[in-house]
Amino acid sequence: MSHINNPMEIYKLLNGSNCRECNEKTCLAFAVAVFKEKKPIHACPYLEKQVIEQYGGEIEKPNTVDEYKEEAIKELKQKISLIDLSQAAQRLGARFSKNKLTLKVFGKDFSVDTNGNLASEIHINAYMVVPVLNHILNGSGKSPQGNWITFRELAGGPSRYAHFHQRCEKPLKRVADTYTDLFKDMLDIFGGKKIVSQIGSDISIILYPLPLFPIMVCYWKPEDGLESSLHIYFDSASDDNLDIESNYTMNEGITLMFEKIALRHGACKI
Ligand code: SF4
Repeated sequence: MSHINNPMEIYKLLNGSNCRECNEKTCLAFAVAVFKEKKPIHACPYLEKQVIEQYGGEIEKPNTVDEYKEEAIKELKQKISLIDLSQAAQRLGARFSKNKLTLKVFGKDFSVDTNGNLASEIHINAYMVVPVLNHILNGSGKSPQGNWITFRELAGGPSRYAHFHQRCEKPLKRVADTYTDLFKDMLDIFGGKKIVSQIGSDISIILYPLPLFPIMVCYWKPEDGLESSLHIYFDSASDDNLDIESNYTMNEGITLMFEKIALRHGACKI
């Protein structure tokens, strides 16, 4: 059994003659078929016995994003079971009672007990659970300062900004452009707070994915031939309460959630 990451790794084992004896049009097509487990590798008669033995078993494919997140959650739950949760609650200004730490996620109760078991008033997916558990483990508890900064200004932000913009701000802007209820949902369902922007945006909403980790979503409507734009801002204490990877994951989760809501309402084609 061998670990194969992509069809090219199989292709490199073939002689590249495209002879079609395997009933595929090309060696590359054969490699893809093997990777997808539609064909056994020994269907190519030109491979050495040793290669067939090495790659002939079940192919171990890389984990999917969901599997990675599941593994991460398992590890985090284990870490949670090793810390003093009452102290963590004190540090974060959360509640602790009956062996459970409870804090608000988007204004709704989210609990974890001393064995790492989770309970929540709202459906929370892996994109939210990983950051919330990291916050419980490592958040300093520093209060939000009320100064808004960009993703680029966060520790580790500059190198990740392009990805963040592509996966979070851009798709959320697309939703905002076509799903007019987006900001209403942010206010009604997710306990957001509308504020008067000091940076000239047409709509500004503060969301509380975590009480100590607010985010500000600002949207500029299209005007005079200029495209609309949307940016997400962070409190200057964000780095103290959530690491950059968790921050990214959480915002990706928020974006996916609003994309799904918009699609469900048939309001836009994203
Ligand atoms: S039989 Fe082997 S060499 Fe021939 S096309 Fe298929 S994979 Fe390529």
